[in-house]
Amino acid sequence: MSFKEIFCQDCKIILARYNDDYFSEASINELSKLHNYYHIKEGHSIILRKKDLVQSPL
Ligand SMILES: [Zn+2]
Repeated sequence: MSFKEIFCQDCKIILARYNDDYFSEASINELSKLHNYYHIKEGHSIILRKKDLVQSPL
């Protein structure tokens, strides 16, 4: 399972996390523009980074 994280490099926080299976890169970009309007408006640098979750064996 892999996720895409939207990370604000100025605030050093993860703003959102989207499951790759359900969201395309285009829709994530659209969502991040809406949800992170404050950060974008303030001129923060927002990056989209891919995160692979390794499931630990039971
Ligand atoms: Zn920010």
